[in-house]
Amino acid sequence: MAKKCAVITGVTGQDGAYLSQLLLGKGYRVIGVARRSSHYGMATHRLDWLGIGGQVEVVDGDLLDLGGMARIIRDAQPDEVYNLAAQSFVKTSWDQPVLTSQATGVGVTNMLEAVRLEAPGAHFYQASSSEMYGLIQEPIQSEKTPFYPRSPYAVAKLMGHWMTVNYRESFGLHASSGILFNHESPLRGLEFVTRKVTDAVARIKLGLATELRMGNMDATRDWGHAKDYVRAMWLMLQQETADDYVVATNRTVSVRAFVEAAFAHVDLNPDKYIVIDPAFMRPAEVEVLHGNADKAKHKLGWTPEITLEQMIGEMVDADMARHRKAGA
Ligand code: NDP
Ligand code: GDP
Repeated sequence: MAKKCAVITGVTGQDGAYLSQLLLGKGYRVIGVARRSSHYGMATHRLDWLGIGGQVEVVDGDLLDLGGMARIIRDAQPDEVYNLAAQSFVKTSWDQPVLTSQATGVGVTNMLEAVRLEAPGAHFYQASSSEMYGLIQEPIQSEKTPFYPRSPYAVAKLMGHWMTVNYRESFGLHASSGILFNHESPLRGLEFVTRKVTDAVARIKLGLATELRMGNMDATRDWGHAKDYVRAMWLMLQQETADDYVVATNRTVSVRAFVEAAFAHVDLNPDKYIVIDPAFMRPAEVEVLHGNADKAKHKLGWTPEITLEQMIGEMVDADMARHRKAGA
């Protein structure tokens, strides 16, 4: 039987790396779309960290370029398309609202168009976000909870989500939207709070830093592990019919509790190192996110396997190892 083929946008990001690993393990041909950069070799550092750098076919492409994306889809004739590319950092979206609208919102329309025109039978995944719930309308959020976005990022994601639903209903595309709650790993970007914390904890423990500057420590998030969450993406595209699914752990924890657990992992007291810095506060905050993934559990048979405590330990240990290696 011919190998299945998947196209992944955002292949240089956290989820792109773990999803590539999952699909390669299942025998897929994986084509990863990456933006052209003058920095040779930088693009595949996450794939390299997972030891799969040479196994993904990386092609140049930008979500804003419909013609280029359509050519990639036409040439690949993929079975599955995972649209993971986005300007994904909430705080930056207030500084770059137009760019965020284009990449994170209109970019989804470009991908849906490319699929509709060039490979309408392909199964399509859109990386939607729990940020769309924003000012939460229910204490625990499911597929039925109304949205109330609180940042340009969340507004753009909402556009992408509804465009995915619309292409499914208008053109019969097998297009699914995964409403994923925050998910982290040692490959998470350093600007996100979890990785910022684990990296700082590692540097403090190794004597390379003396403080950790933080914003709102009271916000709570439903944090899972990226490796578990990419499995849910794949499961969505294996279903007979396309649908929308919340992916979450059903446990919400404060930023403060995350910080305490990360410091505790290396036997340090956070109170000695934390400095609250208004520079890390946001114009509008999402105070609480807490997901109900019962639909994913019952329809996809998906449950998370990695606990928050295991993930924090893995992230701190990986950052310790990175800094030790850099200093060696
Ligand atoms: P990352 O920020 O790690 O990766 C984003 C990817 O998008 C990078 O590969 C980036 O490329 C690429 N990208 C950005 N703009 C463009 C563009 N114009 N054209 C082509 N590629 C582009 O995000 P994650 O891996 O964490 O997340 C994957 C997706 O899931 C994102 O859409 C994110 O918004 C969404 N999501 C993530 C959650 C999480 O907790 N991680 C939760 C819910 C949704 P480059 O390397 O060149 O910057
Ligand atoms: P988000 O949920 O996609 O915005 O993911 P982040 O990891 O960027 O932020 C999660 C929460 O941590 C938000 O409520 C932030 O306000 C809060 N937070 C507190 N301090 C910081 C910080 O220094 N950096 C970041 N990125 N977030 C912080």
